[in-house]
This record gives sequence, structure tokens and C-alpha cells, in this order.
Amino acid sequence: MPDGADFALLQGFRYECLPGCGMCCFTSPAVRVSEQPRLLQLDPSAPLVERGDGWSVIASRPNGGACHFLEATRCRCHRVRPATCAEFPLTAHAAGRVQVSLVLGCPGVSLEGLDPWADGVGSGPSAHGLASELATITHEIELASTSGEIARAAQRWSLLERRVQRRTGRAGDGDPRATLYPISDAVVPTKLSSPEFLEGVEPEEALEKLPLAYDTTWGRLSWRPVAGGVEFLALEETGGVRPRREVLPVPTRSPGLDTDALRRLKGYLGYVLARDETLGTAYSAYLESDGRGVPLSELLFAQLHATAVQVVRMALLRRSLAGDGHGVLRPGDVDRGIRATDMQLLDAPTAGLRL
Ligand code: SF4
Ligand code: SF4
Repeated sequence: MPDGADFALLQGFRYECLPGCGMCCFTSPAVRVSEQPRLLQLDPSAPLVERGDGWSVIASRPNGGACHFLEATRCRCHRVRPATCAEFPLTAHAAGRVQVSLVLGCPGVSLEGLDPWADGVGSGPSAHGLASELATITHEIELASTSGEIARAAQRWSLLERRVQRRTGRAGDGDPRATLYPISDAVVPTKLSSPEFLEGVEPEEALEKLPLAYDTTWGRLSWRPVAGGVEFLALEETGGVRPRREVLPVPTRSPGLDTDALRRLKGYLGYVLARDETLGTAYSAYLESDGRGVPLSELLFAQLHATAVQVVRMALLRRSLAGDGHGVLRPGDVDRGIRATDMQLLDAPTAGLRL
């Protein structure tokens, strides 16, 4: 393992790719320069678009967002696919340390491993079923370390921390996240009036930029705000959307959660809090607000609350879409809400570097 990389966020999870899903291929994967020749050898017409930072992306199809190489939920370049694809559903974030996390939107990841995170620690053996993904991400971390990317990210992070400490006037006060464990019931919403819902999702946004989830009935599912609520779209791998569309009103109240569902939601919030991205977002918000009157722990709490609102809303919307169940939310409902929230959360800008 690379020096200092933290794999604690993988503890207690199991993974098995879901046949026929293909959701993670509705993207434009990043490709290193060294990976390009073998892709072009396989398909000289592969649309590689320079990103301007030494990387390229494989452009997705304009209508529907499926990767150029996706064919009937199978990858045409599987043996030479980019490392960013081969390491999924793992993702790494470099800041003060390199932290490896799971993309929980992937329906192949079991979510039971979340529950202990309500107390701030995972438990159980390290991720089951992820040996080749771990090997790929470990190699990617080593490459980023050799090229100096990780050291530069650590330097930026250290500057950020120093600026925060100067504002608080309390240097070396420990991790401000510690005070929020165990996750309190107070973070769980009853009203769902937070304005963050679908923040950053524009109605006219191209399909490939919209949030994604996998649904057993709909397949790849996307959603966007429209007059009267939220429009759900089923994405075809060949491009476009299936004719069936649904517009549902945005729920404004939570019916409550049963005990197991509450545990799952608090576990997810604990997991989100443990990701360094969350701390970086709070640091940035703190500095932007000039540190006037809003302690870091309150900013973190507000972030968790907004995430909880999003999970509950998506749980309710997806339950309505499936037409199954009513009354208090159960763990399966919350799982659907988490899966619909997590990929969007990981797409948000970060103060660190995503590998
Ligand atoms: S999203 Fe997860 S389950 Fe679906 S194809 Fe990708 S890795 Fe497999
Ligand atoms: S290169 Fe292959 S694995 Fe990667 S997104 Fe495209 S189809 Fe999926």
C-alpha cells in the first residue's frame, strides 16, 4: 500500500457488480496520456477529448450520456479500459492524506457496512470482492505520488488548514468532525424544505450531466427539475431516453424512518462526515464566510442535514416511482435514497484532488 493511504472507509463492505447494470459507463471517463495508444489501437475513431491538465476524456454519446465504448451494457475495450473505470466503485481523494472511499451509488456495493459509521468507525473485514479494483487504485495512487500530484495536493490542504486555524485562533485543536460523532437524531429532517435539493442540476442540462441511479424497473435512471416537480428519465445505452417519463411532486415532509432505516441514514451521514471532501467543503465555506459567528462544527452539521434531506427526498421520490409502500421509510427505501445521492455528492467540487 502507498505510504499514508487510508483504506478505513472500505471496512465492512461487500461488492459484486450487478449484471446488466452498466450505470458507471454513463460517463466520460478520464484517460491518462499513457493509456491513449491502446484505446486508439482498438478503435481509431475513439473520441478522446483533451482536458487541458494532461488528461483526456472519452466523450460520451451526446444523447443519453453512455460512453462511446459501451455496447449493450458491456465495455468494448474492457481489457484496455482506463484505470478510472477499472478502479470503480473505488475512488481516492488526496488532501492531508490519501483516502480511499466507495462510490455508494453503485448498486453492487452492499450498504450494511454503513451502519457502524454512525459512531465514526467502520467495522468488519476490509472490502470483500474488490481485489482487482484495489490493485488498480493502489497503482494509480503510486503514479500520482511519483508525479508529485499528491505532494502538491497535501501542500494546498496544509495552507487551507493554516488559514482556518488563523481564523479560529485555535491552532492544532484536533479534527472538528470528532464532536459530531455519534451522529445525532437532530440531523434527521422532518420538514424537507432545504433549498439544496437538485442544487446544480439545471432543467436544460444535457443528459450526460444529470444525476444517475440504477433501478431494477427503470434501469439507468436520471432526474431533473421541471414545472410541477421532478422529471424521471430512463436512459438507453444506445443514447436517448425511453418514451416512459414520470413527473412527481417534490415531497416536503418526511413520514419518519423505522429504527433500522434511521440507523442506515445515520451510518451514511457518519460515512459522509468521515470523507475528507466534507471537511474541505466546510473549510472553504468557513473561509468564505470570514468565519463570522458560524463555528466549523455548525457548518459541518448543516452539510449533514442537507445531505439527510436529499436522501429522504430521493427515498420518497423513488418509492413513489416504484409505486411500492407508504408510511415510515424502511432500510430499503433509505438505501435507494443514498444511492441516488452519493454520486452527486462525489461529483461536487473539492478542496483536495480526486484520483
Ligand atoms: S455501477 Fe456498479 S454494479 Fe453497475 S455496472 Fe458499474 S460497477 Fe457494476
Ligand atoms: S471505457 Fe468501458 S468501462 Fe469505461 S466507461 Fe467506457 S464502456 Fe465503461
